[in-house]
Amino acid sequence: MMNLNKRILTGDRPTGRLHIGHYFGSLQNRVKLQDEYESFIEIADVQALTDNFNNPEKVRKNVRQVMLDYLSVGIDPNKTTIFIQSMIPEIAELTVFYSNLVTIARLQRNPTVKTEIAQKKELFGDSVTYGFLGYPVSQAADITSVKGTLIPVGEDQLPLIEQCREIVRKFNSIYGEVLVEPEAILSKNARIKGLDGNEKMGKSLGNAIYLSDTDEEIQKKVMSAVTDPNRIKKDDYGNPNVCMVAYYHNLFSKAEDTKSICEECKLGKRGCVACKKELIQNIIKELTPIRERRKYYEEHMELVDKILLEGTKKARKVAMETTKEIKKAMKLNYFD
Ligand code: SF4
Repeated sequence: MMNLNKRILTGDRPTGRLHIGHYFGSLQNRVKLQDEYESFIEIADVQALTDNFNNPEKVRKNVRQVMLDYLSVGIDPNKTTIFIQSMIPEIAELTVFYSNLVTIARLQRNPTVKTEIAQKKELFGDSVTYGFLGYPVSQAADITSVKGTLIPVGEDQLPLIEQCREIVRKFNSIYGEVLVEPEAILSKNARIKGLDGNEKMGKSLGNAIYLSDTDEEIQKKVMSAVTDPNRIKKDDYGNPNVCMVAYYHNLFSKAEDTKSICEECKLGKRGCVACKKELIQNIIKELTPIRERRKYYEEHMELVDKILLEGTKKARKVAMETTKEIKKAMKLNYFD
């Protein structure tokens, strides 16, 4: 039965098509949660601009790509409201109000922001933009605008939720109990490693399998995945713990098959090429229904746009009500 006392908010920055890291890390969970809670998903185009301000075309193009990915994995628009962040001006308004409740030093200390700034040295040099530093404030506006109370995140995102909770507490202590502190739900598989063994899977790293990849693309990528470097011949004893093919078998193959794959590898009874081919088949099997749904929606883009527009209208209605309550509490309701 659906729990109507809690509302889920999740989202993605539309900077590229979604990959299997997103699929195992969050999308599967969202599909499950939409049956349990009222769910909202934000396509965070404004947030995407904080580190892509010089490439608006990329953000614009990927709004629909991400939307296609959502629909193709089974996000059901009858259960989940999908909306575009920039089309909810109330979020920008709330961001301004909340920016008074956070210090620069606190944002600079936020571990998630700190790590991301360090990773974006090339873009920001030695001085980060006001917009990027402040994106946790904008995220607090996202969450509270639609009254999100449960936020599924990976461990590395927890500081952002804590930052939002602090803003909510500060707001309530000054203006009265209007906002609800969101709770984080920790996602188990939040981070899936790349084909090269990198802790992060991403477009810029070139180590991702996309949900929309073709059979040929999947094949090419898996064939170049990192395996046990000490294994030269088939009968060398292998170590599946350092092999990305074994890692992905764990995600795409049946548990008993993965167990015997690892045992055979350790005993030198399995060839890496055959092992990769088996994985390719299993990935294709898992992604085929997703790609078929994607194809359907690609051929019916007018339906995709309709869903997106309706979701955005619904989210905006909620955000307008919230903002009204917030402005009243802040004594900004001059003509009510
Ligand atoms: Fe990896 Fe399979 Fe080769 Fe073992 S046999 S190293 S698990 S690809």
